[in-house]
Amino acid sequence: MGEAQHDHRGLGRRLELFDTDPLIGAGLPYWLPDGAAVRHALEEYIRDAERRAGYQHVYSPVLGKRELYELSGHWSHYADDMFPPMVLPDGEQLLLRPSLCPHHAVIFRSRARSYRELPLRMAELGAMFRAELSGVLGGLTRVRAIQLNDAHLFCTLDQVAGEARAALEMIRDAYRALGIEAARYRLSLPGPGGKYVAAPDKWRRATALLRRALEEAGLPHEAAEGEAAFYGPKIDVQVADAAGREATLSTVQVDLHQPERFGLRYTGPDGAGHRPVMVHRAVIGSVERAVAQLIEVHGGAFPVWLAPAQVVVCAVSAAQADGAEAFAARCRAAGLRVRVSGPERGSLGARVRQDRLVPYQAVVGEREAASGAVALRLRDGRRFGPLPQAEAVARIRAVAEARVTGLWEGDR
Ligand SMILES: [Zn+2]
Repeated sequence: MGEAQHDHRGLGRRLELFDTDPLIGAGLPYWLPDGAAVRHALEEYIRDAERRAGYQHVYSPVLGKRELYELSGHWSHYADDMFPPMVLPDGEQLLLRPSLCPHHAVIFRSRARSYRELPLRMAELGAMFRAELSGVLGGLTRVRAIQLNDAHLFCTLDQVAGEARAALEMIRDAYRALGIEAARYRLSLPGPGGKYVAAPDKWRRATALLRRALEEAGLPHEAAEGEAAFYGPKIDVQVADAAGREATLSTVQVDLHQPERFGLRYTGPDGAGHRPVMVHRAVIGSVERAVAQLIEVHGGAFPVWLAPAQVVVCAVSAAQADGAEAFAARCRAAGLRVRVSGPERGSLGARVRQDRLVPYQAVVGEREAASGAVALRLRDGRRFGPLPQAEAVARIRAVAEARVTGLWEGDR
């Protein structure tokens, strides 16, 4: 990536994507309008991709009773990473959730389930919390409140490898659209110590299923001990940050533990009750980490569909202000994110430099204003036009809706 690699913290603040305030607290960033636009586009992409892959979306609360996490096993295996309970006057204890799985397991078991419903793919872009120490917090990568792109696939043992492979394909497609590359695939296994639930047979079976999914997908991978979830092994898709440090962005996990803890059942073709498997998967991991990665990889020059402003409209002089405004209105009506940069902000050259990260600069001079046209300058230096305004909007919109990394039709 070379020059495009930046530390997302400085760039994120300079581009006014996010910030923090000591009064809100460390590790609790807030999103400014431009950052919120990127995040919104990302969340829309994920929900679309999930809908098309047959997922059903749910919402569940960001907290729950302590008993919920005792049942799931989080309380005994993961309490160090959780915020302490909030104790109500009547003694009830509530916890900010450390993951979404317990809620989804409860939703699964809230109805009688048949094998015909499997695989049942339950998705939620939901908040979870991690009690990170304040010394390690920073930017979007070490935070205490995390928006997770989570899903749980309740399925039969026979369906696990296929579901895991389909999840890996979703991850691959998402990385292509985002312009992100996986550094490597890691098969994360348990290590020594009491962090992991003790059930050697389940670990062996779950690990074999993940290995099969990786092999069928033709993905080279390395095994790493001590990196599994407490309830099961996982495939971690590793990405590298600007400093070359690796982090996990996406995961696919096989869990034979929580279905048992929650007593999950479905009725099989034989009329008897059977235990489903839970496959946990996150395509872009957390929204925070994904945006941090995008900032670093693209140096703020986001793909069109993610860019906070997709078009900036520049009138050459005040005489073309109406023409510029008309084009901006057309862009807005077409669902594009657009900004007007008038001559009060400096010479045309200065304005073009100011907004050099914006994918399209639409310039309206005397000639364009007279004919209802715009001249387009692309971020990479290419120029098109003058084009009729309607055509320019249609072309930009087509690129934005295709969710590709190129800037113009036919780009790769
Ligand atoms: Zn989960």
